[in-house]
Amino acid sequence: SGCGICTNRCPFNAISIINLPEALEDPIHRYGQNQFELFGLPTIKDGSVVGLLGPNGIGKSTIIRILSGELKPNLGNFEEETSWDDITNFFKGNQLQNYFQKLSEGDLKVVHKPQMVDLLPKVVKGKVDDLLNSVDQRNRLDFVTSSLQLETIMEREIANLSGGELQRVAIAAAVLRDADFYYFDEPTSWLDVRQRLYAINVIRELAEEGKSVLVIEHDLAALDAISDYIHILYGQPGGYGVVSHMRGVRVGINAYINGFLREENVRFRKQPIEFHVRPPATEVEAEALCEYSSLEKSYDGFYLNVDEGLVQHDEILTAFGPNGIGKTTFAKMLAGVEKPDEGKIKKKVKISYKPQYLVSEYSGTVQEFLYTTAPHYGTNLFKTEIMRPFLLEELLEKKMDELSGGELQRLSVAISLSQEADIYLFDEPTAYMDVEQRLRAAKAIRRVTESRNAAAIIVDHDIVFIDYISSRAMVFTGEPGVEGHATSPMDLRSAMNKFLSEVGITFRRDKETRRPRVNKLDSYLDREQKEKGEYYYLK
Ligand code: ADP
Ligand code: ADP
Ligand code: MG
Ligand code: MG
Repeated sequence: SGCGICTNRCPFNAISIINLPEALEDPIHRYGQNQFELFGLPTIKDGSVVGLLGPNGIGKSTIIRILSGELKPNLGNFEEETSWDDITNFFKGNQLQNYFQKLSEGDLKVVHKPQMVDLLPKVVKGKVDDLLNSVDQRNRLDFVTSSLQLETIMEREIANLSGGELQRVAIAAAVLRDADFYYFDEPTSWLDVRQRLYAINVIRELAEEGKSVLVIEHDLAALDAISDYIHILYGQPGGYGVVSHMRGVRVGINAYINGFLREENVRFRKQPIEFHVRPPATEVEAEALCEYSSLEKSYDGFYLNVDEGLVQHDEILTAFGPNGIGKTTFAKMLAGVEKPDEGKIKKKVKISYKPQYLVSEYSGTVQEFLYTTAPHYGTNLFKTEIMRPFLLEELLEKKMDELSGGELQRLSVAISLSQEADIYLFDEPTAYMDVEQRLRAAKAIRRVTESRNAAAIIVDHDIVFIDYISSRAMVFTGEPGVEGHATSPMDLRSAMNKFLSEVGITFRRDKETRRPRVNKLDSYLDREQKEKGEYYYLK
């Protein structure tokens, strides 16, 4: 069977239903004739964090808009106004009856952290300090600013913040408000691994106080650590979405990895996602593609030095470390966008570069843009290597400047990967991508890199993605915003140990699926692994 997104058999297992559920109930909402339909809503639990896991375009934000009262559900009847009586009747006997009753009476307090924090400066002006003080209804300002490490940016203008800083300010503004229900749409984009854990802590603290929290998240390790329960969303992105039964977080994520929901009898992926238990074998002197000497770069107040390195043919080199440590600066030096103060890139190679922050000012369609930027657009090779894994078919008619964050990201990665180059350089490619897209991107990058005898260098913070894609890795350490140091490329085990020991986090493997899971601080495994110096791979 085809995967439903493209018409051909898809080697990338794009997410879609392979067998249909026996019967769908009545929809909660339908946007219009032949438009997206949503079936089911998540469970809302006092004192718990409930995670939503599913691809883009499957109805996650629609759910949050309905639950926060921004969108009145029409129960599938888009032609006439649906009354609140009909809605509460629809949920008779269900906990949502009471919820919608109160919502309709204006009796619920709801807070919503939106997905695209990059847009925040357009709607909020002024200093961080002023914003956070004005919303501190729970009197938690000190706790939240210190937990999210915002002290040093309190005096800064919101307009001048980086992506990771905006994300932390947006999370702080949400948790400071007093409400009954808290909805977080993708809280970890742009955050580094440690910041992800801090964000998880302040959000979990809401649940510990008895609040109901709902979180949409695509970083599986973060979703695992933040949620008590999860709902999986499946269906046909853009067509319809179904909310699965609620499951405990471990069982739920494993069902997702396996691509099969037993109770619902729904298979949405042909194969499970497979993880390695052992680090990839260290290369025996593979052929060098590019060499660089040690590099130095200073900005006013920031100094970076990079140990010399060598990039090999066919490898995928990942780079990770905290924010503000010089990862993007290193990427820019490789790409030739910035010049090092000292040192040089020795072998002249062609580099195709996807920057961290994306802007789409082009006003034409995606198709027009592909004609001018993707060299082999229209060929069969382009179709299999680029169009399919990045699901570009469904973007072709869209206007470039109206793409969502996830759409712009996958288009940008696709265009970079379609160039003829020796090195593909991606700065944070997974931001705003859904889980399936991350995995399809990983496979596509590996496939193109190997077929061209090239290499890829990827800066990213998603541990599950890094685990899945890396051949080797380099680690950035130092003092964020002050000085950074990058190691030479090394094997993944050493890199993970170096990075995670600085961060103080250990990972274990799930027994069933082998996916990496964060250990609880000071748990038995955490202490044992720290003693052995094995932060990531258990022996
Ligand atoms: P997700 O958050 O899972 O990415 P959304 O809930 O934003 O998905 O959207 C689900 C589907 O509904 C998408 O195909 C989207 O294009 C469509 N959609 C969202 N808002 C509207 C709207 N106001 N009118 C018509 N279709 C919409
Ligand atoms: P990362 O990608 O690891 O988050 P960056 O390389 O973007 O870090 O930035 C490292 C440090 O250098 C940050 O403190 C940043 O503010 C500073 N920096 C980056 N680019 C410039 C620039 N053009 N001028 C001045 N400072 C800069
Ligand atoms: Mg969304
Ligand atoms: Mg960066």
